[in-house]
Amino acid sequence: MNNDQLTGSTQLFEVGNIQITKVVDTIESFSPKVLYVEKDRNAFAPHLDWLQPHFLDDAKGMLLSIHSFVLKTRHHTILIDTCVGNHKTDSGFPQWNNREGNYLAELRAAGCRPEDVDFVFCTHMHVDHTGWNTQLKDGRWVPTFPNAKYLFNQREWNNWKKADGKHDRAVIEQNIKPIIEADQVQWVDNVWGIDDQVALVPTPGHTPGHCSVSLSGGKSRGKSGGCESAFIPGDMMIHPVQIAEPQWQQSADDDKALAIQTRSKFVDDHCDRDMMILGTHFNTTGVYIVEQNGQRRVRL
Ligand SMILES: [Zn+2]
Repeated sequence: MNNDQLTGSTQLFEVGNIQITKVVDTIESFSPKVLYVEKDRNAFAPHLDWLQPHFLDDAKGMLLSIHSFVLKTRHHTILIDTCVGNHKTDSGFPQWNNREGNYLAELRAAGCRPEDVDFVFCTHMHVDHTGWNTQLKDGRWVPTFPNAKYLFNQREWNNWKKADGKHDRAVIEQNIKPIIEADQVQWVDNVWGIDDQVALVPTPGHTPGHCSVSLSGGKSRGKSGGCESAFIPGDMMIHPVQIAEPQWQQSADDDKALAIQTRSKFVDDHCDRDMMILGTHFNTTGVYIVEQNGQRRVRL
């Protein structure tokens, strides 16, 4: 892996011959209570030596990064998760209303123009994963990526289209429906290979149609060593403490028991493996799951 700092918090690295750029929309500190209603800041105590400074701030607030991964494979430019977006309204998080962030400028600075993107995939349809699907132009929401097919998981949409809460409706009207109306959706059914290097993997629980993304990079170009495969877990795990504590109940999970089952199995299956984890809200580039003194943790 080769980590090179670009502008701001944008980071460029490689998995095999896939080029990956992490483009950040926002990084915020959240109280643990936002996700783990039964926990407080002291619950992190056994893990502070590896959670700080990247994943917990000095006051033990959870540092959550909201970013996209741009994948350049042999064949395609693929954007995974589209963050919060600009000018959105009626979000359940007040700080995300009427934002004017620099995401698109960061994306261009990282060498990806919106028109270059072939596929967009959102691991699920929550507000912080679908925002830049669209942008406001002349008072209308239009697709941000004009040449892309947006992969929508049918079983995720089947769940969302019934939603009637104000915040959920805002996501549907601002981030999802304009893509359907522009005829830029490619409907998929849970399991899907985008090409021979990137595939969707169902990881239900957080939402019914939640899918993670598996990357097979093969041998890197002209370099020896380096990681050949990676996994983007989406919100199967939001904060890295869930690698050590996959059984913690997470308030944002639709089906909490299924989410714990999916997460626990994932951690078991990927501990001490040569598999880079690209956390959708992890405030780093890639990490590895390792066991040390009987405890699971991450290695940067
Ligand atoms: Zn999220």
